[in-house]
Amino acid sequence: CEKKHPELLHNVSTCRSPMEMFASVLKELNKYESQKLFHVAVMPCTAKKFEAARLEMNASGYRDVDLVLTTREVGKLFRMTPWDVAKVGPSNFDSLLGAYTGAGVIFGASGGVMEAALRTVYEVVTGKTLEDVNLTMVRGFDGMKEAEVDLDGTKVKVAVANSLGCARKIMDDIKAGTSPYHFIEVMCCPGGCIGGGGQPIPSTIDKRKERIAAIYAEDAGLPLRKSHENPEVKLLYDDFLKEPLGHKSHELLHTHYAATNK
Ligand code: SF4
Repeated sequence: CEKKHPELLHNVSTCRSPMEMFASVLKELNKYESQKLFHVAVMPCTAKKFEAARLEMNASGYRDVDLVLTTREVGKLFRMTPWDVAKVGPSNFDSLLGAYTGAGVIFGASGGVMEAALRTVYEVVTGKTLEDVNLTMVRGFDGMKEAEVDLDGTKVKVAVANSLGCARKIMDDIKAGTSPYHFIEVMCCPGGCIGGGGQPIPSTIDKRKERIAAIYAEDAGLPLRKSHENPEVKLLYDDFLKEPLGHKSHELLHTHYAATNK
């Protein structure tokens, strides 16, 4: 959008990516040790290296992400060691920011960000419990997915573009003023981040579908599947951020974009 569609920048969410939200909170929480902290993010995405280097990604006063390694690079590093990683048993992530929900897991698949957001939006807006969290209408490998969600009488039209190519038509419609959607998810990589440029090769369509199936299986097996039910996210808001869209949240969880030709 910054390069090709700067006139639509005001439509783009100001939310930082999960990598950058995590990074700014991590460094701010450890403010007095930020100088010593070296934050390495393991990502499926080569573009994250560019994102981490953006000058505005220093909400904590220091560069929020110091180094990005892709999953493929981490695989290479593991193969250079004598360890058999497959034999290492699972363990829990460190607290704080270690607990996770199914909503976080499905971010990796096309439609996952939309589904995770809707699981929370429904409950926040209506005050009711969303009984069936499986919003399957935005899942799958189709290029374009559309749905209408009923928020207690208010109909919200959503769309998911599964690759940049599929987003082009949506962008044209927005510019022409004919787009019917209130909320649009665009994933650059077909299938979503599970097919990111930093992922293990081969990353064929079948492999991507397997990864997506694994993600939804993980989501289905988790006790918590909505972001706002994450106990550590709740604690973070209670003790530190105070409220969504509050001053601290704005500083640490949001960013801005500007037109560029670079
Ligand atoms: S969809 Fe692709 S480009 Fe976008 S964040 Fe995921 S891996 Fe990166």
